[in-house]
Amino acid sequence: MQNQNNQRILISGAGLAGMTTALALAERGFSVLMMEKAPALSEVGAGLQLAPNATRLLARLGIMEDLLPHAVSPDALYLMDGVKAQPLIRMELGSQAEQRWNAPYITCHRADLQAVLLKAVRAHPQITLHLGANVLSHHISEDKVTIRVDLNDQITDYSGQLLLGCDGVWSAQRAGLVANNAATQNDSRARFTDHIAWRTTLPAEKLPQSFLDSLKDTLSVSAWLGQGAHLIAYPIKNGKAFNFVAITDGEDIGTSWDMKGDSAALIRSFSGWSQAVSDVIKAAPQWTFWPMFEMPEPKLVIDKRLVLLGDASHAMTPFAAQGAAMAIEDAASLAAHLSPEQSDHSEALAAFEKQRLARIAKVARRGKLNRFAYHASGPVALGRNMLFKIRKPEDFLRDLDWLYQYDAADITS
Ligand SMILES: Cc1cc2nc3c(=O)[nH]c(=O)nc-3n(C[C@H](O)[C@H](O)[C@H](O)COP(=O)(O)OP(=O)(O)OC[C@H]3O[C@@H](n4cnc5c(N)ncnc54)[C@H](O)[C@@H]3O)c2cc1C
Repeated sequence: MQNQNNQRILISGAGLAGMTTALALAERGFSVLMMEKAPALSEVGAGLQLAPNATRLLARLGIMEDLLPHAVSPDALYLMDGVKAQPLIRMELGSQAEQRWNAPYITCHRADLQAVLLKAVRAHPQITLHLGANVLSHHISEDKVTIRVDLNDQITDYSGQLLLGCDGVWSAQRAGLVANNAATQNDSRARFTDHIAWRTTLPAEKLPQSFLDSLKDTLSVSAWLGQGAHLIAYPIKNGKAFNFVAITDGEDIGTSWDMKGDSAALIRSFSGWSQAVSDVIKAAPQWTFWPMFEMPEPKLVIDKRLVLLGDASHAMTPFAAQGAAMAIEDAASLAAHLSPEQSDHSEALAAFEKQRLARIAKVARRGKLNRFAYHASGPVALGRNMLFKIRKPEDFLRDLDWLYQYDAADITS
């Protein structure tokens, strides 16, 4: 079947990038057709920290009211000495963060964010979402782009004016480019970062006492630092549960997002750390693990009819907790640059790409700095701790202004 409509935008992938982009573009007046290969959007993933640069955009999409009852606005952010279980820094978040950055800093479960986005997508008259729709290939011609889709075992072609590849770190759209262009092969594939992310969730009542005793505020984000690893902890589900992410060195063992981990390996990575950390590791009945990939070179505008967004374009390590935020920023920025009245988007896309590449590179650099500081050992760790001691919490907050104050929909920024 050939279904042609050159006035609409096609989106491959209904993750955070796909759904926020669909909503932002539909609000601008575009008609959006989304394809998601999963037959149902399952509860994949775990917690997410959503900083003010992301929540200000989610508020404009009208989903914060639905999300907030499931989320937590943490009181503080701690950087902890993972071995001594002592705070190195405490930064005030909560209402102070909201006042400073004009939007809240929240933590939530990815599935809760996905559910409220899905509700908004389904309610929007300008968006059509097909589940069980695997985008197999795309073909670009002068006046349109056509995708071939396996929709519940039926092969169907759809056309539109733009294809947005929001299909994640193992993007088929990006892989197609690699296959078509041998010269870009090395910088187009996601690269294993030598790090593994281990994740688990504990009900609030199962949190070990040693962990609770180490933090003044229970409803806080804490990053426990040590040699070659760190552990992040924060509340989700309106404080009823806690999300833990441990980042360690490791080997690439595949490309799924949800593999069951052998916690003996995790215990070995954190041996010699504080009681609080080892109690948390042992308290969880199951840890899942993800080998972490990043895109060596972000690519956004591939052609005047093909754009990559979110992890498909610029998957990054979670050291700055900004991967989803960058996908949400992509959505807002793209919608602000495009206009449904235009038939040729080339200029708008060039401006979009210039703005996004600069921003993404800056955020990725911050992630690298955090990686260096978080996993430091020996004299570097001593120097880090000394610096943390002499700087005031206000200095650390000011240092985040450029990141959290940013408005991706401001096309003059
Ligand atoms: C351990 C860890 C912790 C993190 N913590 C944070 C954090 O605290 N804060 C933060 O901002 N970010 C965080 N991130 C990053 C964040 O999770 C990702 O950046 C974000 O989920 C990427 O969204 P996406 O929509 O680009 O990709 P995905 O969520 O991967 O979505 C891609 C979608 O495309 C679909 N798809 C794939 N191929 C096709 C196809 N051929 N046809 C149709 N559909 C297809 C998939 O089924 C999927 O639904 C973290 C990441 C990790 C690994």
